[in-house]
Amino acid sequence: MVSQRLQPFGSTIFTEISALSRQHGATDLGQGYPTFEGPESVKLAAIEGLRNGWNQYPPMMGMEELRTAVAHRWRSDTGLIADADREITVTSGATEALAATFIGTFDPGDEVILIEPYYDAYPVGCALSGAVPRYVTLHAPEFRLDADALAEVVSDRTRAILINTPHNPTGRVFDRTELEAVADLCRTHDLIAITDEVYERMVYDVEHVRLATLDGMAERTITISSIGKSFSFTGWKTGWAIASPELAAGIRAAHQFLTFTVPNPMQYGSAAALRIDDSYYTELTTMYRAKRDRLVAGLRGIGLEVYEPQGTYFVLADHRPFGFADDVSFVQHLITEVGVAAIPPSAFYANSDEGSRLVRFAFCKDDEIIDEALEKLSAMR
Ligand code: PMP
Ligand code: GLN
Repeated sequence: MVSQRLQPFGSTIFTEISALSRQHGATDLGQGYPTFEGPESVKLAAIEGLRNGWNQYPPMMGMEELRTAVAHRWRSDTGLIADADREITVTSGATEALAATFIGTFDPGDEVILIEPYYDAYPVGCALSGAVPRYVTLHAPEFRLDADALAEVVSDRTRAILINTPHNPTGRVFDRTELEAVADLCRTHDLIAITDEVYERMVYDVEHVRLATLDGMAERTITISSIGKSFSFTGWKTGWAIASPELAAGIRAAHQFLTFTVPNPMQYGSAAALRIDDSYYTELTTMYRAKRDRLVAGLRGIGLEVYEPQGTYFVLADHRPFGFADDVSFVQHLITEVGVAAIPPSAFYANSDEGSRLVRFAFCKDDEIIDEALEKLSAMR
C-alpha cells in the first residue's frame, strides 16, 4: 500500500535501470556511481572511527569534527564563515538534507520553483511537504536558465527557488549572470534559495559560482552537498546543509525525526576527507575531464549529437539520429540489444517532453568500461 502522495512517483529510474542492466549483463553507464573508490586514508579514518569507540549516537546535528571540517572547507571555498554549531547540519546524504529542507521549511500550498530537467528527489520533496512545484525548463542545446521564464512563475505563494549547480543531468554549471538573476528574484520577493552542489568538484574549465556568495544571499541560501561524489564513496550517504540559524532550525526540526543522526564512523571518515588538501580535487577534476573528453568524443563518433557538459559526471545526447520513438524505447534497445545501460531523461521532466529525445550517460567509470560501452555502441553506427 502506497500513500496517495507518493503513488505518482513509482520506483526511481535509477533502481529500474540498474535492475534491467544487471539482468542483461549490460555495460553500465546508467546510475551515477563510480567504479573506483576514494582515498585509502579516508577509508582508514572511518575504520579508525569504528575501532575507537565512535559507535553510540552522535549529536543530532552531526559530530563536531565533521561540522568543523565542513565549516573550514566552506571558508576556504567561499570566504564565508559558517557557525559549525548553529549553521551546519549533517544529514544522511544530500538526499536527506533535501527531504529535511522541504519537510522542515514549507507548508502545504507553498510554491517552490524547480528547474527541469531536475533530480528526481525534488518533486518528491514537494510531495512530502505539500509544497507545490512550479517548473522552469532548460532548453537544449545550451540549457541556460532564462531570467524571464523564472520571473514568470513567481507568485505571491512562492517561497523558494531550488538550483542544482553543477547540474544533473545537463552538466551545466550556471554562470554568474544566470545566478544573479536567481539572487535578484530572491531578494525582490523575499525567497529562500536552495542550492544542491553535490557535483561541486566536477567542474571543467568554467567558474563554479556559489549562490550563497552573491550579495545578500548568504542569509537566505541553504547550500547542500555531500561526500559521495567528491570522494567516490556514494554509499557513505553523509551530507550536510549550510544555512542561517533561522533556516537551519527548520532543517533540524525535520532531521531530528527523519533519521536523528548519521552513522558516526562515516562522519569521522568524512571529516578526514574534507581535511585533504586541494591537490586531491585538482587530480579528481583532471581525471574526470579526461573521462568526459573520452566519452564525448566516442559518442560523437557513433553519430549522436552530444551536449558537452561543463560539470558533473554525466553527458546528455540527442538520440534522434537513430530513429527511436522516445528515450525509453531507445534505452530499452541499448540495454537489451546493444548491452549498454543509460538513463532515459524523460524521468526528469514534468512539463516539457524534451527529455524524450535525450539519453544520459555517466562517465564516473573506469576507462575500460567507457571503452567497452563505446565499442558496443559503435555497432549501431
Ligand atoms: N542531488 C543530485 C543532483 C544528485 O545527483 C544526487 C546523487 N544521488 C543527490 C543529490 C544525492 O546525493 P547523496 O547520495 O549524497 O544523497
Ligand atoms: N545521483 C545518481 C544519478 O543521478 C543516482 C542516485 C540514486 O540512485 N538515487 O545517477
